[in-house]
Amino acid sequence: MDEKIREFIYSHKDEIVKDLAELVAIPSVKDEPERGAPFGAEAKRALLKAEEYCQKMGFATSVIGDAVLCADYGQDPELGILAHLDVVPALEDSWNTDPFTLTEKNGVLFGRGAVDDKGPALAALWAMNAVKSLGIPLKKGVRLILGTDEENGSKDLELYKEHAKFPPKVFTPDGSFPVINIEKGMLGVRFSGNTGGNYMEFRGGVTPNAVADKAKAIMRRVTADKVKAAIPEESEAKFTVTERGDNVFISCDGRAAHASTPEKGVNAVTALLSLMNRVTDEPGLRGIEKLFPFGETDGASLGLKCSDESGALTCVLSTLAIMPSGECEGTVDIRFPTCVDLQTVKDKVCSALESHKLKYEIVLGNEPHVVPEDSEFVKQLLSVYERVEGEKGACIAIGGGTYVHNIEGGVAFGAERHNTDVVEPSPKPDTDAGQPSDGSGDTDYHMHGANEFITVEELLKDAVLFAHAIIEVCG
Ligand SMILES: [Zn+2]
Repeated sequence: MDEKIREFIYSHKDEIVKDLAELVAIPSVKDEPERGAPFGAEAKRALLKAEEYCQKMGFATSVIGDAVLCADYGQDPELGILAHLDVVPALEDSWNTDPFTLTEKNGVLFGRGAVDDKGPALAALWAMNAVKSLGIPLKKGVRLILGTDEENGSKDLELYKEHAKFPPKVFTPDGSFPVINIEKGMLGVRFSGNTGGNYMEFRGGVTPNAVADKAKAIMRRVTADKVKAAIPEESEAKFTVTERGDNVFISCDGRAAHASTPEKGVNAVTALLSLMNRVTDEPGLRGIEKLFPFGETDGASLGLKCSDESGALTCVLSTLAIMPSGECEGTVDIRFPTCVDLQTVKDKVCSALESHKLKYEIVLGNEPHVVPEDSEFVKQLLSVYERVEGEKGACIAIGGGTYVHNIEGGVAFGAERHNTDVVEPSPKPDTDAGQPSDGSGDTDYHMHGANEFITVEELLKDAVLFAHAIIEVCG
């Protein structure tokens, strides 16, 4: 049977790649809602295209809230495979090919959505097709669930929940192999206040969930020489200082990273803040640095430091703006392990901010998501992974949230592979290095960046893996 599935998938390689090319050609980036298209016309078009494939294969389909496509095989679904058809924009100028024209080079498929998540979505559909076409008997049903708003807050799943239930076991191929069973909790906080100063400006960071790689400030009542002399000798952050009239302009270059892995970055915001505090005496500015010292990523200064087998708590001051009037506003991204809960983290952060006279607002709060490693479902997926991939499967914990973060019992199964021999096929030096990515591993699929890719071999292997997962869970 193993051989039959492999044969079926590999003999349909051209069709699978052609389907993917058609899906990639639809720029399903979130857009203004239209009638019958809550996330924009292109997202809906991608959904209808996928429905066409499902129907051609003979699956019963339904569309929920004009936002989620379901394809069912068999009654009473036991397994749900949840993927998404929307993509992030492709505005980077470092693309080597047209992002919306799937382009194959030496077995590598480049295009927006290739790995996130149109490729894996198709692999799941073709897995169902293989099981059906080969007449492999199933005791229970399987449902493919394709959403269109994963990249912008998963409002599509709220629409789904209004009308349908999730099967008892759900995996999403929108993370990485082998199985992600723990996703840390998340807290996003916006704070504001007044630093009390009236002779400086500050601007750093643009993305609330990333370590900033750039920050800039204008200072008065200091000289460029004094600022230059205060630059620490061995700082990983790089500073440029220029003087024009009464103004000293300072810009700081750090290294961007996703907020779930801040240790990979160098925070330009806190680096610049710390330099400014060496040459000026502003209690408000010092207060912010006390809470978020440069180089600290574990929240120790907020009293948050903790860790367990799901990892360490991370805390990032991601953006900060200070007006000449002293009005300031900043955002903080915190990811916490399973040994603490949302309320505890919230209380500590809020009281720390209050003690420095900063007002705050909670913009995002999620408890950690945990599916026990010894649950039947996780064991089933790991055993399939080991059999098909021929290597040991283990659970992983991540700081980011996946599509199943709010689905009880849901895990991520694929589609990125880490620590494998997938050679990064970047024809040019990595021009989007430093682009925040959702991934947490070593192979960089350029998800959300320029030159996103999946290899043909992985696309087909994913379909084989998913077919085995369907048989294991539903057979
Ligand atoms: Zn995704």
